[in-house]
Amino acid sequence: MAYLQLQGIEKFFGSHRAIKGVDLTINQGEFVVFVGPSGCGKSTLLRLIAGLEHIDGGKLVLDGRDITHLPSSKRDLAMVFQSYALYPHMSVYENMSFALKLAKVDEATIRDKVDRAAKILNLTPYLQRTPKELSGGQRQRVAIGRAIVRAPKVFLFDEPLSNLDAALRGQTRIEIAQLHRDLGATTIYVTHDQVEAMTLADRIVVLRDGLIEQVGTPLELYDRPANQFVAQFIGSPQMNVVEGAQVPTVPHVPAGGFVGLRPEDVTLTPAAEATPGTVPGTVRLVEALGAETLIYVATDAGAQLVSRLASRSTLHSGDRVAIAINAGNAHRFDAQGRAARL
Ligand code: ATP
Repeated sequence: MAYLQLQGIEKFFGSHRAIKGVDLTINQGEFVVFVGPSGCGKSTLLRLIAGLEHIDGGKLVLDGRDITHLPSSKRDLAMVFQSYALYPHMSVYENMSFALKLAKVDEATIRDKVDRAAKILNLTPYLQRTPKELSGGQRQRVAIGRAIVRAPKVFLFDEPLSNLDAALRGQTRIEIAQLHRDLGATTIYVTHDQVEAMTLADRIVVLRDGLIEQVGTPLELYDRPANQFVAQFIGSPQMNVVEGAQVPTVPHVPAGGFVGLRPEDVTLTPAAEATPGTVPGTVRLVEALGAETLIYVATDAGAQLVSRLASRSTLHSGDRVAIAINAGNAHRFDAQGRAARL
């Protein structure tokens, strides 16, 4: 079922090796999300697939065909950018039909395809408007519609929601998920947003410094990160990582190693209610987010931890607390940061 294959893909900008031999196989219909810190090469990898950058080494195969050096226009891919790049003087209908017109598709077919895409994206009432008469979310949907009408083999999204406000972002994210369920199109999506990555992806690819650190389903990466980098990159707030010696209740930590604790696996009680196995500490900051509360604490031994509570808390900064650790869910890393399994 390998549909898109990246084999040893390399990219240099001058002497800077931005992509360092990436191997990845994407199946037909899969929704794959690229994540990683700023500058790790997410956009570059997407642009190499799109044909917007020249591939300096390796091979790119789509549906059995070598497309490594094929011009972008011949690759049968459609890219949606964060800046919607709509034609300002054209109507929504004209924007969506432009590529088909260029391809000399007949008018009746164009109308049919645009009408169907508009319906899927709830854009039917706006077809005669120009982009400036639309909201940001509607404009982004037009950009997606323009991609849909072409029925490409692969959809490429480069941070498509990053210009939208939080509410619209959430709503458009759900629409993209629904669209993927309806169309089943192979999709590659670059984002900084944890929630987008976790909710949209069939598989997440974590990149770092031009290389893949780990590929897996969102929950595989969350529950079984291959190393400390992935462990701290996936999940928000990020996983607590402390020296093994600071959490003596967690057994089997490799020599010189570290313990990783998700914020939900750190719970706090007032110091007066301390039970055996808890660690004493002091609350530094409480963030009440409504549905959940994040509490930042320092143990008396100096470790900084964040605790996530799925409810309200009566704790305040300065309070003395007993910190309980769910050792059963603890992650262990060796001195090099590689995951150590029991
Ligand atoms: P961000 O999340 O900040 O968008 P990214 O992971 O998408 O980052 P890229 O834009 O792919 O990162 O950049 C990868 C590396 O390649 C960076 O070090 C960047 O500075 C470099 N780079 C990207 N495009 C060019 C270019 N046109 N010329 C020179 N260097 C570039």
